[in-house]
Amino acid sequence: MGDCTAIRPVANWPRGSEAFDMMAVLRELFPITRSLTGYGVRQTLAVLQRFLPITIHEVATGTQVFDWTVPKEWNLRSATIRDSRGRTLVDAKDNNLHVLGYSCPVTGTVSRDELAAHIHTLPDQPDAIPYRTSYYVEQWGFCLPDALWKTMHDESYHVDIDSDLSDGSLTYGEFFIPGDTQAEILISVHICHPSLANDNLSGIVVAMGLALECLRQPSRRLGLRFLFLPATIGAITWLARNEAALSKISHGLVLTCIGDTGPFHYKRSNTGSGIDRAVEHVLAHGTIPYQMMDFSPYGYDERQYNSPGINLPVGCFMRAVHGTFTQYHTSLDNCDFVKAGALEESLRTLSAVICVLENDRVFCRADGRGEPQLGRRGLYRATAGQKEAGGVSQMDLLWVLNQSDGTRSLLDIAERANVPFERLYAASRLCADADLLTEVLS
Ligand code: ZN
Repeated sequence: MGDCTAIRPVANWPRGSEAFDMMAVLRELFPITRSLTGYGVRQTLAVLQRFLPITIHEVATGTQVFDWTVPKEWNLRSATIRDSRGRTLVDAKDNNLHVLGYSCPVTGTVSRDELAAHIHTLPDQPDAIPYRTSYYVEQWGFCLPDALWKTMHDESYHVDIDSDLSDGSLTYGEFFIPGDTQAEILISVHICHPSLANDNLSGIVVAMGLALECLRQPSRRLGLRFLFLPATIGAITWLARNEAALSKISHGLVLTCIGDTGPFHYKRSNTGSGIDRAVEHVLAHGTIPYQMMDFSPYGYDERQYNSPGINLPVGCFMRAVHGTFTQYHTSLDNCDFVKAGALEESLRTLSAVICVLENDRVFCRADGRGEPQLGRRGLYRATAGQKEAGGVSQMDLLWVLNQSDGTRSLLDIAERANVPFERLYAASRLCADADLLTEVLS
């Protein structure tokens, strides 16, 4: 399929870099104690830098970004609850979800009643540890299985959270693949969740896979900008620091929860745009069930990219939808919940979406009026209905030649003909090679 599958090594990259295995990297990243800020985010980006020369940005605590302020940096060294006999019942070393994210330091003996005000459990899922944070209200807390909490009947417990909450910086990563034009596609993933596999890590590793795949292609029309940032405040920080260049973003996707085996879900951008059409077209011609969702101002960072005064055409690509699956924001969202085959399906689908955006061109006929004689140009090799080499049918050629009037793009024609974009793209290449089409540059 032309440029879409043209895989050619790039001279200078990646030379000597490790082979990238999405599932292996996901497992490596899983135990890291990530949060909105701090060393877990830096360590995560350092792992990714082994494969891709991601630029790391540090933005100081207190920096004003639109209506928000970059918060204090949080780092956790240890957290435990011990009973009156000194036995450790809860230890963040076993699972970093045990600590309320952004807990301030605390140490001492507290009554069970006092401790209860700082305990988070899920009575409906008694064996799961919930994921909870308190970024903007300073407090401390522990998250544990409800089944464990129900066995804790001592009068007092010793709690110890050894953390730093102090001036530092917010960290995010950025990687840009330039195109021949100024226009860019934005791919954004959040990197602030600790040991959660689908919500967070699946988006990170698929974005990495996509970046590495696009790097191997010989040239691009559209630039590709990848952002690895903490949710909400990270996206707001990036937007505030790049406001002057936002008009270059012609399409964008937030990727999250794309490692489970459920159907795809795509949440449209606020204003409706080419990215929405490209995703829906690819999903409609794929084999995996999918559901389209209209924009709403809740969810992941698409709400920042689609916020007033920003209005970027950015949708959200998911499989499982936040808040609707039992593993969501619990210790059940682990490496077993994510499947290598599901990550690969997500990568292939996103790669096809990028291919549509990259190759959705407008052509007009170069050969005059009427239907051209295809046989004379070597384009009538097959009986009507049979496929030419590359999967192009006679009908595909006729659709492209009939509809290319200088106003309709290949995606317009693919939608009208109800055939996969890549077939009309391949047909357009055959026609252009036969001097039947010329591209109309906007
Ligand atoms: Zn989440």
